[in-house]
Formats: sequence, structure tokens, C-alpha cells
Amino acid sequence: MENLKKVIRDVPDFPKKGIVFKDITPLLNNNKAFKQTVDKLSSHFKNKKIHRVVSMESRGFIFGSAVAYKLNCGFVPVRKKGKLPYETISITYNLEYGQDTLEIHKDAIRQGENVLIVDDVLATGGTAKSVAEIVEKLGGKIVGLAFIIELSFLKPRQKLKGYKIYSLIKY
Ligand code: AMP
Repeated sequence: MENLKKVIRDVPDFPKKGIVFKDITPLLNNNKAFKQTVDKLSSHFKNKKIHRVVSMESRGFIFGSAVAYKLNCGFVPVRKKGKLPYETISITYNLEYGQDTLEIHKDAIRQGENVLIVDDVLATGGTAKSVAEIVEKLGGKIVGLAFIIELSFLKPRQKLKGYKIYSLIKY
């Protein structure tokens, strides 16, 4: 998957000084790379009986919904506070830059359902851990967490012990 690195653009000092932002828009804009990404993520989980793919706003939606389509399962959005219209449960978490609150519809996942979490970048792991925790609060079973990019120098796996992590490329 090293060729995917060619379609990921480093943007220094975005959204603030000191952060090197991994911009996946060139990957999305490349039909072969986008297809390869979605196919690879989906095929890794195709025999895992996934019932729901859960992704976080907003770049996670792009990949998560495509993976859900391929796996023939439901898609559940996790959104920033105040965006989801129905009754929610929420969680506040730290990310590489700042703090945020995420919400999920409280009827989005049923007890015992197999869940795959999909996002573009695994950085500190704070977001993924919070999403895993709210999914578990709703009774979902986390089968795996899938990412395009893992920033392994930030040691996200230390925060996610006990979960199966699959990432296509690492820095
Ligand atoms: P974290 O909670 O630190 O693992 O951050 C993960 C979330 O923040 C993901 O949804 C990413 O999209 C975004 N993110 C964090 N760091 C970066 C980065 N260096 N480049 C692009 N996105 C990032």
C-alpha cells in the first residue's frame, strides 16, 4: 500500500502550528486509489459478520459509508455535538489538537451487534477510543477499527489495547 502515500498530501501547520495534516483529498480525487482503499478495507473484514460500520464526522463518513456499502451492512454516523436530530448519547474526548464532544443516536446499534469503526487517520487514538466506548455503551461489539493512515509515532495502540486495529499505511 506504499503507493497510497503518493496520494496523501502533507500540509504543515494545519489547523495549527506544529501539526502536519495528512490531507486525503488527493486520494479521494484519484479513482484507482479511492477504489483500492475502499476495497482493501472491506475485504479485510468481509468474513467478520459486520452489522454496522460506525464512522466519525466528517472524513470518516466518506470511507465508512463506502465500506458499509461493500460489506452490505448499515452505516452509523457519529457527529459533533448538536448535529444529530434524534435522542443521543455523548462523549467528550481529547484529540491531537483540542477537545471535542461526539454524539451517536441512542437507537443506532442494538445489543450484540458486530461493529466496525472506520476513520481516515488514527493519530493519538483518543477519538477512536471514545467512539469505541459509546458503541459499547449501546451494547455493540467492536470487531475492529480500520484506518487509512496510522500515525504510529503518536503511539495510538497504547490507548486502544484489546482492540483489533487495521491500518493501510503507517508513518
Ligand atoms: P486522534 O483522536 O488524535 O486519534 O485524532 C483522530 C482524528 O483527528 C481523526 O478523525 C483525524 O481525521 C483527525 N486528525 C488528527 N491528526 C491528524 C493529522 N495529523 N492529519 C489529519 N487528520 C488528523
